[in-house]
Amino acid sequence: MPAKPAAVAPAADAPPRAPGSGESQVQRALKKLGLVRDIDFALYLPMRYEDETRVVRLADTRDGDTAQVEGVITECEVVFRPRRQLIATLDDGSDTVQLRFFNFYPSQQKQLAPGARVRVRGEIKGGFVGRTIMHPAVKAAGTPLPLALTPIYSTIAGLAQPILRRAVQAGLARAPLHAIVPNPMMPEGAWGLREALSFLHYPAPDVAVATLEDHSHPAWQRLKAEELLAQQLSQLQARRERAAQRAPALRAPIEAGSLHAQLLGVLPFQPTGAQQRADREIAIDLARTQPMHRLLQGDVGSGKTLVAALAAARCIDAGFQCALMAPTEILASQHFGKLVGWLDPLLAARGLRVAWLTGSQKKKEREAMEAIVESGEAALVVGTHAVISEKVRFRRLALAIVDEQHRFGVAQRLALRGKAKGELEPHLLMMSATPIPRTLAMSYYADLDVSTLDELPPGRTPVVTKLVAEHRRDEVIERIRGQLEQGRQVYWVCPLIEESEAVDLRNATATRDELAEHLGAQVHVARPLDLIPSGDGSGAARSWGRPDLRVGLLHSRMPTAEKQAVMADFTAGTLHVLVSTTVIEVGVDVPNASLMVIEHAERFGLSQLHQLRGRVGRGAAASACVLLYATGDSGRVGEAARARLKAMVETGDGFEIARRDLEIRGPGEFLGARQSGAPLLRFADLSTDLLLLDWARELAPRLLDRHPELARQHVDRWLGTKAEYLKA
Ligand code: ADP
Ligand code: MG
Repeated sequence: MPAKPAAVAPAADAPPRAPGSGESQVQRALKKLGLVRDIDFALYLPMRYEDETRVVRLADTRDGDTAQVEGVITECEVVFRPRRQLIATLDDGSDTVQLRFFNFYPSQQKQLAPGARVRVRGEIKGGFVGRTIMHPAVKAAGTPLPLALTPIYSTIAGLAQPILRRAVQAGLARAPLHAIVPNPMMPEGAWGLREALSFLHYPAPDVAVATLEDHSHPAWQRLKAEELLAQQLSQLQARRERAAQRAPALRAPIEAGSLHAQLLGVLPFQPTGAQQRADREIAIDLARTQPMHRLLQGDVGSGKTLVAALAAARCIDAGFQCALMAPTEILASQHFGKLVGWLDPLLAARGLRVAWLTGSQKKKEREAMEAIVESGEAALVVGTHAVISEKVRFRRLALAIVDEQHRFGVAQRLALRGKAKGELEPHLLMMSATPIPRTLAMSYYADLDVSTLDELPPGRTPVVTKLVAEHRRDEVIERIRGQLEQGRQVYWVCPLIEESEAVDLRNATATRDELAEHLGAQVHVARPLDLIPSGDGSGAARSWGRPDLRVGLLHSRMPTAEKQAVMADFTAGTLHVLVSTTVIEVGVDVPNASLMVIEHAERFGLSQLHQLRGRVGRGAAASACVLLYATGDSGRVGEAARARLKAMVETGDGFEIARRDLEIRGPGEFLGARQSGAPLLRFADLSTDLLLLDWARELAPRLLDRHPELARQHVDRWLGTKAEYLKA
């Protein structure tokens, strides 16, 4: 039996409530942190601890220690040089230390009057004026010492630490923490849940703090085990519920005249082996009377769109409708363009069409589209989330395909499910270019089947990736000129730096103008009639000016029609350099683009960089990706950023990138809420807790079969209202 937690939380007050019925500011802040039910508070664990359990002798401390000392104030004065500050001296009989405050209240000055006995806590720094504590926490001497470490919780503006701490304490005291899963079923040696939580909020002072921080302490094991079990149970439940659902079985024979066969016939290339395999896996799912729930993952450029088109063709061959959704209009229109190019003539011969639905459509056009969706004339419906808006009624939807699924809200995917007729559910195919390492996917997503495109179409020349320091920006611009002279096109990506889109837009606009000027090119304006020269027109005056070249801008704030016009011009090749914020991140396909410049590459995530790089190297031309990095004040790039940039230079393989990303960030974040609606693991870490994951995988089906009520309670305790979403 592990040691009992030594400390018990002091009696808790109720969390502050608003007078009357209204919600107080505190309650709003707590809600923002996800703290509503008592159990939410109990599971809100400290990010770190402070040790206020001991008072030490100054003579026993070393510079750099964070310590608590007690003594008499011998001096206290406000000085004005080099700046206004309060300086007091504390003597504890063994040594003295200076206390300094740059911001202080008169009350503090009073508290530190000479002769006062105080207890202070802070980091002791050495220095030639003597040892100092900057801004120590000050209390009256002799205040009873707590028995446990003091928890520090992560908080937000408007919610002071002591208030949050009291609220957590109250929730912890009230939450029903009885064992739901009988103890004998838990991993051996596991602590009780109440015991573990009490300890983690108020650990005994003799604990090895490192084991709390790296979550290896036995108290953590209990929480991780419970969390993983809840995750596995909810996935398993979802899988079983799905097995009980009915979907239309799509079993059209693949014969010479089928849309599927005709589509393969008009393709300008052969599908890769991986594409064929994925197509077959999907075909088997579609032929079942249970809804498919499949993730198609493949590196950027691996050709997911074709697999989607083949699945759509199978669905249409069986006499049903297929919906394809993308998270942005640009992506949706790219799909639309490609699929229309391939499928429209074939569909037209059958009296069928492709429909297009987005939020920005004119009412009239939109109503016309809705009408052909409802009549069934639109066999394929492409668009953004507008596809699942209430007004859209399908005649016989059987397959929904969601591209870049991690950018789609789970609620939206839920809405999609309700679009099939009557009791039937549509089959669901999700596509992602952020590969999850296979082993992880299999053990973690009990609820998902996965097809992987692990082969790129032939004839691609690998993209050469170069790191270039920001001060060599001019050379990069020269390089752009070189590409343009060969008739190629260029992407220039500006980072999202600020919380404010307005600032990002200003930066991106400035970059566009700078490039136009240096290249002697024109600023591109999306409406052809309004073509105007750049800024002051100085660009065109340069001897090497190329007024036939255009530099354009794409930004998330632009109206959709303008964005589409810009993309259309870039695709058509009448726009040569596209400066953009990360709106081009996923899915955009312009094979003539051969150079991608990413500014402030050190600020991007690894997967994001890889996605961006995937926009080039899509044709046969040799392509390059330049990662411009800035070093900041320290003259260096941070360690994680360096690891990301290094990975980009060293490998072009999406799976390897995913593996490194996992290493740099840890799977908790990697599999974050953005992935497939999976719950963010708050406590467990899949790279270190695989044994616990195995335990949870093994227990989940047994628990669900033999004690379904306990399983339900356990999921409810851990996931609460979130559980519904996980089934999407
Ligand atoms: P992603 O998986 O990133 O969505 P796309 O579906 O956009 O990739 O495909 C990338 C490019 O490769 C497109 O131009 C597409 O037409 C082309 N492509 C797809 N499959 C093949 C293939 N088997 N052979 C050659 N080119 C292909
Ligand atoms: Mg794509």
